Amino acid sequence: MTTRLPLRVEPSPGEWWRGYLLRVAAYYGVHPFNLLGRLHGIDAVERRHLRWSGIAMPDDVARAVAAIVNLSPVEIQGMHLSVFAGSALNFAVRGFEDFDPALAFNVDRLPLGGAGPLVKATRDRFCPMCVHATPGYRAASWRLQVHLVCTRHRLLLKGGEDTAVNAVIDDAVVDSQCEVLQRLTPSEENAAFFEHLHAQLASSNGQWRQNLEQNVLVAPEQVLDTFRLSVERVLTPGYPDYQGLAGWPSGIAARRLRSPDPAVGADVPSDCLPHLLPMHLFSPGLSDLLHRATIRHARAISAVGASMCATGRTLHAAAEGLPSRRRATTSALFLENLIQLEKEGRAEQFWSLCAAAAIELLRKGTNYRRRELVCNDEDLYLVATAAEPSAYVRTVRTWLVDQWACTYTSSNVRPSVLDGSIEHFDGLSGPGMREALERFLQELTA
Ligand SMILES: [Zn+2]
Repeated sequence: MTTRLPLRVEPSPGEWWRGYLLRVAAYYGVHPFNLLGRLHGIDAVERRHLRWSGIAMPDDVARAVAAIVNLSPVEIQGMHLSVFAGSALNFAVRGFEDFDPALAFNVDRLPLGGAGPLVKATRDRFCPMCVHATPGYRAASWRLQVHLVCTRHRLLLKGGEDTAVNAVIDDAVVDSQCEVLQRLTPSEENAAFFEHLHAQLASSNGQWRQNLEQNVLVAPEQVLDTFRLSVERVLTPGYPDYQGLAGWPSGIAARRLRSPDPAVGADVPSDCLPHLLPMHLFSPGLSDLLHRATIRHARAISAVGASMCATGRTLHAAAEGLPSRRRATTSALFLENLIQLEKEGRAEQFWSLCAAAAIELLRKGTNYRRRELVCNDEDLYLVATAAEPSAYVRTVRTWLVDQWACTYTSSNVRPSVLDGSIEHFDGLSGPGMREALERFLQELTA
């Protein structure tokens, strides 16, 4: 039978559960194992039970423990590393119940790899000044590999009594660390931030990913500089060359690349985003910038750029809107062309044109998915030719797909796309046919 402790020991802000347990044990003058045994009803407490504490706790266990230590279950959960699930950590592979101290498996290693980049050392890292103020205090975030510096005291977190490393902590490093700590609240945006940050750190030096907190004690200036640069790179979206993404495989880089500005609209209907950017939005600006690519590739790159600006999604996610066989090539071409533009100092111009195109696509709200479905219909073809009787038959069919539905043409209508005459044809006959088709579709819907 477990009984309530007589008094409530007040948790400190940001305190970690394992540190709190040790403080409570010290307060009552009992061995921590004794306290753990009482909290979880374990007969023979071992070190592993303590090691398992503070990571995640199932809700029913938290309720039982809360009653004993005079805290609310929410206060207890708030001291566990699971509060960083959905930002710096991801427990998707591991369930919280895997870290229930009462069920601690008889294995030497904690299965922490499944939760994200946590400090693996058994010894705590701490800020000496913070601990001086509250003896025994441990912050939960000190267990994150990406918490390297106490921003309040401008000190490197120490690994133990014997490691007396002093490093100059400049403003830039403090700013980077503050940015990281401010993003610990779980959200989709913050999870993406940490995912990218971890990838940046891994790419800077594969080993630091494994042991960032150990390396910072060996070569602090170097590690802190890499840390600062990695944070900066994550916070400078849209510039793959600066972000170091140029050296990454394009499939991986595409999952990190976003447009520099926040999304144009919330909950953008994907129907209004075409596969190929319509000509009136594509030329002259984007067609000039992307002159190295074929017109069709350049229009696809521009359409993906506009989609990224509209939705705030990554290049990879925006390319998912394309037919499946076009995705990988378009992503790779997008990166290649944008990196080239960035080297020429014209990436900003590219993004501002894509953003303008995105605003226009959302304003117009044309349903391109519907146009794709109907562009090969005989009725539509007849309406278009009636509006433009002198036009060559195959050119009209190509125009309907390439210029009106703004999607990829099948092989039997491609020649005029390849030689570029479809754009010329659009300039001459496009306006009349568009008007006729719009009227026709309105009548159909009415
Ligand atoms: Zn401190």
